[in-house]
Amino acid sequence: MSVLPQVTQLRGKVLDFLFPKWCVGCGREGDFICSACGSSISRIVPPLCPKCGIPQPDGILCSTCIGRQMAVDGIRSPFRFEGVIRQAVHQLKYQNLRAIAEPLAALLAEYFTDNPVPVDVLVPVPLHPKRLRERGYNQSELLAKELSRLTNLSVVSDCLVREKQTPPQARTATLEERRNNVTGAFACLDRRLQGRQVLLIDDVATSGATLDACAVALKAKGASSVWGLTLAREI
Ligand SMILES: [Zn+2]
Ligand SMILES: [Zn+2]
Repeated sequence: MSVLPQVTQLRGKVLDFLFPKWCVGCGREGDFICSACGSSISRIVPPLCPKCGIPQPDGILCSTCIGRQMAVDGIRSPFRFEGVIRQAVHQLKYQNLRAIAEPLAALLAEYFTDNPVPVDVLVPVPLHPKRLRERGYNQSELLAKELSRLTNLSVVSDCLVREKQTPPQARTATLEERRNNVTGAFACLDRRLQGRQVLLIDDVATSGATLDACAVALKAKGASSVWGLTLAREI
């Protein structure tokens, strides 16, 4: 019998002792998201617009998607960007709580298993090099790497790059403004992803303009399909 499971369990216990976890929602010690806060997470449930993934009666194309041509084949997100998920993303992005990427990716993996999309490679939405230097890490890459561990899909994080620094997508910006902000912001360095079915990974989507701009760059270098999976969605 293998002793590995026990070793892994022991390692987990030692880590918990050295780095105790507190719930990002209520502060209770134990997990990053306690079971009470976990059960209060608001999920995005069907029927959805098949393209952009927002709730839509009868599951037909929403009015926004009818009126625009998107390069991204579809976007899906398990949760609304509010409550404990909003706090978790804040901790991941701005409070250096990198370890929370693991349970968040587990939630993504669970969703992805129940709601499969065409994919053979994971690509995190890149940060601009200047933003990456300031933050020290790309939160989307952390999520992609943890998701890769859980799904055995490979991650390619050095092909798609962000060439233009864009202001954070403000809630108040119109769809048009958001699209203009990110148009041409991304590029693929080579044709490594030619013929591949790419799944873009990001923490939050708002209008989907960022994911769409990434899809334009990936398809320009031959990606056969590009879907987006984000932990949360502003609706
Ligand atoms: Zn809690
Ligand atoms: Zn739509």
